[in-house]
Amino acid sequence: MQHYDYVIVGAGFAGSVLAERLASQAGKTILLIDKRSHIGGNAYDCLNEDGILIHQYGPHIFHTNSPEVFAYLSQFTEWRPYEHRVLASVDGKLLPIPINLDTVNQLYGYSFTSEELADYFKSVGEPVEDIRTSEDVVVSQVGRDLYEKFFRGYTRKQWGVDPSQLDKMVTSRIPTRTNQDDRYFTDEFQYMPLQGYTKMFEKMVDQPCIHQLLSTDFKEVKDQLSFDELIYTGPVDEYFDYCYGKLPYRSLRFDHQTLDVADYQPVSVVNYPNDHAYTRITEYKKLTGQEHPKTSITFEYPQDEGDPYYPVPRPENAALYRRYKQLADEQPSVHFVGRLGTYRYYNMDQVVAQALTLYKKLVGIESLQEAVKS
Ligand code: FAD
Ligand code: UDP
Repeated sequence: MQHYDYVIVGAGFAGSVLAERLASQAGKTILLIDKRSHIGGNAYDCLNEDGILIHQYGPHIFHTNSPEVFAYLSQFTEWRPYEHRVLASVDGKLLPIPINLDTVNQLYGYSFTSEELADYFKSVGEPVEDIRTSEDVVVSQVGRDLYEKFFRGYTRKQWGVDPSQLDKMVTSRIPTRTNQDDRYFTDEFQYMPLQGYTKMFEKMVDQPCIHQLLSTDFKEVKDQLSFDELIYTGPVDEYFDYCYGKLPYRSLRFDHQTLDVADYQPVSVVNYPNDHAYTRITEYKKLTGQEHPKTSITFEYPQDEGDPYYPVPRPENAALYRRYKQLADEQPSVHFVGRLGTYRYYNMDQVVAQALTLYKKLVGIESLQEAVKS
């Protein structure tokens, strides 16, 4: 049986970045395991039966303020400039979300200037002394009516609980604006990988020192493996056999459809805060720029059962995670990283940064700039 320097569980961003760095820069031998039949984790994309590039696990838009993360990934892909814009279906209208000047004017038929809108938000915003929950964040900024129209229903569907039961970080992801900026993100770097995410992952992990073992659950093979260190990017509670109980994760069901029309909706993502059981519809061609006579869309239906997609940010879950983290810290040769390994609601760029930081620690490099060099 071959001995490996590292076994890495999970071939998503966390596992693939670490495999790539440790193999290409430190000459380590790696066994990269994933229970799915493909690399890329939740960012996996593929051509569907009609030849349209779709994201198997929902829309993934890359954005970051980190020059190091951007420089690192740029070694493996070219980019397509793309600024994400989202509309929300509210009261029979498609309105910009994040809420901005046009959202309010079009919703209520006002003709506010930015200054007037700022005054309006002050007048309708509810004073909240200590902003703790996802409800507090929104009602304090834009008042109850906008909260109920844009946030309350969406959040209840997405998370299965009321925003008043969720940490403030969830709705804090969405800013409020008094200008007409309708971009979903304001990060310095906003791009899509030109040939897709999976092609980028292939370039990262197709190396002689990295052996891939797909369609394999680590649990099933761990006793047969010989290795020095383990990097684990699956759910941390599962690794410890749920000894303190299950950490809650929210899942999704994706309904992928191909339609015999070239164009379905005005932007790549339309949110449905109040109507329907799904939260949003994504039209991929508008993300990828692909030209095709048909179009592919995906409906997202939130649910409890299924693959763990979202850690649920609530104080009691954070407390339970801390107990698992303590166990994890007692295992010097096992390293937990990634959205599931550290129970963090992280975007792709944050996971890449987290993985690069672990790489630095493993090989004793000081700076992130040095860690991303080839
Ligand atoms: P994952 O991608 O989940 O990879 C973990 C891998 O481990 C999986 O492939 C899993 O199969 C494997 N695994 C787990 N347990 C085992 C085991 N026992 N044995 C073998 N393999 C195992 N981020 C953005 O920046 N922009 C976006 O627009 C965006 N949109 C998103 C939309 C959705 C619907 C979701 C769910 C997430 C989105 N994200 C987005 C977040 C992004 O998906 C994550 O930040 C990123 O993919 C996390 O990478 P990871 O490697 O930590 O985890
Ligand atoms: N949200 C909402 N209405 C919207 C968009 C977002 O209530 O139209 C809330 C909801 O709770 C969501 C959170 O803001 O889960 C974060 O939104 P984001 O688009 O960042 O979610 P993700 O892409 O991670 O699913």
